[in-house]
Amino acid sequence: MATDLGQAAKAAGIKYFLISFTDLFGTQRAKLVPAAAIGEMARTGAGFAGFATWLDMTPAHPDLFAVPDPESLIQLPWKPEVGWLAADLWMDGQPVEQAPRNVLKRVMAAAGSRGYELKSGVECEFFLITPDGEAIADPGDRQVKPCYDQSALMRRYDVIAEICDAMLSLGWGAYQADHEDANGQFEMNWHYANALVTADRHSFFKYMVKAIAEKHGLRATFMPKPFTNLTGSGCHAHVSLWSHDTNLFEDATGELGVSDLGYHFIGGIIHSADALAAILNPTVNSYKRINAPRTTSGATWAPNSVTYTGNNRTHMIRIPDAGRFELRLADGAVNPYLLQASLLAAGLDGIAAKRDPGPRLDINMYSDGHTVTDAKKLPLNLLDALRALEESSVLRHGLGQEFVNAYLKLKHEEWNAYARHLTSWERETTLDC
Ligand code: GLU
Ligand code: MG
Ligand code: MG
Repeated sequence: MATDLGQAAKAAGIKYFLISFTDLFGTQRAKLVPAAAIGEMARTGAGFAGFATWLDMTPAHPDLFAVPDPESLIQLPWKPEVGWLAADLWMDGQPVEQAPRNVLKRVMAAAGSRGYELKSGVECEFFLITPDGEAIADPGDRQVKPCYDQSALMRRYDVIAEICDAMLSLGWGAYQADHEDANGQFEMNWHYANALVTADRHSFFKYMVKAIAEKHGLRATFMPKPFTNLTGSGCHAHVSLWSHDTNLFEDATGELGVSDLGYHFIGGIIHSADALAAILNPTVNSYKRINAPRTTSGATWAPNSVTYTGNNRTHMIRIPDAGRFELRLADGAVNPYLLQASLLAAGLDGIAAKRDPGPRLDINMYSDGHTVTDAKKLPLNLLDALRALEESSVLRHGLGQEFVNAYLKLKHEEWNAYARHLTSWERETTLDC
């Protein structure tokens, strides 16, 4: 393993390796390691103080070791002398239970033992904004209905094409980019793959978009709802379950071309949706995207209820065509590993329990959602979602108690800090009460 990386460095002209991991909040942490030291480092792992990251550790904890996965190696297209490596976390000779990449590998192994492989694609929306974060970067991007705006897209050609070229050179199968529904918002798509590969690429994509935007004097943000009056940034996942080369969700005789197994998986997601929101919508800000009032362009395209449908973008789950579904719940703040891990854990439970997703709804949820009084609503805020996760035996079992407890602890701290924070809005609306 170690030799491989040394050889890869020589063959590809890599001078430095970034040994990288995401903590529970999705923040990417790394050490830069010269190629000459990578052999040793790949054996022992790069050392970190866990307390300095979001992993629920104290200063008294021993060193955390990030052991790089050679399979994940990505040579930075905009700086080829650097090789990026996703790492798994170890402490005291044991895998760290709550480390997101470890959590995903555990759930994938559980799926594997039942003969299932999750394949997934993600659609990461982002904004290009001014470096101070105050406004969208392009003052000319001001259409009221800006989705697919050709001129605004082409004014950012240099940034978008550089990112797209990078994905093509990495063999990700990049195939389209567009201007999204909010001014300043973009989306770039590449092919779906094995869930671990997609999670590593998703992680790297966020870093790459930010790095290339910075190179061009801009800033990129994946914040779920950075502007009150504009549509937020989602991170839709397209999901299918495979056994070798067979897509187990595909069934020509099934409703909308989806198999019973596929519907049980969807049933599992619907069953655990409110607890899933704690992970897929992980910040206080996330809840300003889902449940948001309609924008000037008429829709937010984000779900507000726990419902599924055919090819209709107003629901939490959309079945656009045979053999897969799109989960529209997650947002730009989601941890790439926890996204895949949590939807898989919920889906596996759905299969095991043969969960029934209930009837499909084909109405426009934005205008007519009120007519379906028994449609369950998504949590209105992070606290409600955390409480649902607390109660979720499915996710506790599927993702592991240590992970769920660590995650809940840190996220409750975040909620409490938010709850204590006095906002200008409440002063303005309450000062003269
Ligand atoms: N931006 C929307 C969201 O927050 C999604 C738009 C789309 O359907 O691509 O989920
Ligand atoms: Mg989109
Ligand atoms: Mg989508």
